[in-house]
Amino acid sequence: MRDYDVVIAGAGTAGLSAAIYVQRAGKTALVLEGNAYGGQIINTLDVENYPGIKHISGFDFATGLYEQVQELGAKVEFEEVLGITADGEEKLVRTAGKTYRCRAVIIATGVARRVLGLPNEKELVGKGVSYCATCDGAFYRKKDVAVNGGGNTALEDAEFLSRFCNKVYLIHRRDQFRAAEAEIRKIEGKENIELVLNSTITALSEGEDGKLASIETTDKLTGEKRTIPVSGLFVAIGQIPANQAFADIVELDSAGYIVAGEDTKTSAEGIFAAGDCRTKKVRQLATAGADGAVAALAACELC
Ligand code: NAP
Repeated sequence: MRDYDVVIAGAGTAGLSAAIYVQRAGKTALVLEGNAYGGQIINTLDVENYPGIKHISGFDFATGLYEQVQELGAKVEFEEVLGITADGEEKLVRTAGKTYRCRAVIIATGVARRVLGLPNEKELVGKGVSYCATCDGAFYRKKDVAVNGGGNTALEDAEFLSRFCNKVYLIHRRDQFRAAEAEIRKIEGKENIELVLNSTITALSEGEDGKLASIETTDKLTGEKRTIPVSGLFVAIGQIPANQAFADIVELDSAGYIVAGEDTKTSAEGIFAAGDCRTKKVRQLATAGADGAVAALAACELC
């Protein structure tokens, strides 16, 4: 006896979009999420590039999606998926306390944040080191802070923090930003943003209170070291896949992404990969939602 037609691992944009399409196809969906619903978009202050919506906060976007899924009757459980096994055509999805039987699985677990890997970085989380400017930025009002990274997240974070922090150092390992032109334009001419380019963060120093007091940057071209006193450091250096729990059932590429094309089909029959966790070029809100729809409809064809 199947518990659900389709089990979806991950309640980010891809996973929740998939749940909408499964329920609307008249099948039953269970969404399993190890953390909070919403995925990465929850950390974005203002989403400006989702077709049809001019401005919306990431939190409101994710909450709308979550409510939509619940209204359509999908079940959402806050349990982490620890593994998937095949039992003939059916699939068994294992969490810490339960095993769910279904016909198809959609893996939509997104990506995990990349960390700097400095010795005391972990200890300083919550004491100056943060990975989410929209969550923690308000603690640094009128203070000097640093943002590390050159992608959309880092530039958005720097612009956001510059609105209320005294000074923002934007540290990037190259002299070209990866971020979209629109984000680069927003920080241009901001008097309280200082660019520290061709530089990486090589040390974090604590004050006597055990909180972050300064960072050390090293210029990659000259080798010159600089100590920058800051109360906060926002690390925005991208993400890495976290697909080890699925490595024994679907093929991963050398970077750890699940190998799947635009049809979201993985190397295993009945298992689909949607959103940022799969091999793809464009990792955006719109493409995550699209993947969810494609995976759901393909999964429903099997049920
Ligand atoms: P990202 O685009 O992968 O950028 C990561 C940045 O961190 C890059 O500039 C990279 O440098 C740098 N970096 C990587 N590893 C590093 C390391 N070990 N030390 C120092 N710097 C390092 O990540 P993201 O900005 O979080 O964005 C992730 C995805 O979400 C992207 O597809 C992005 O477009 C999307 N996103 C979209 C929006 C939006 O559309 N509003 C907002 C946020 C994010 P290099 O450039 O030298 O590689």
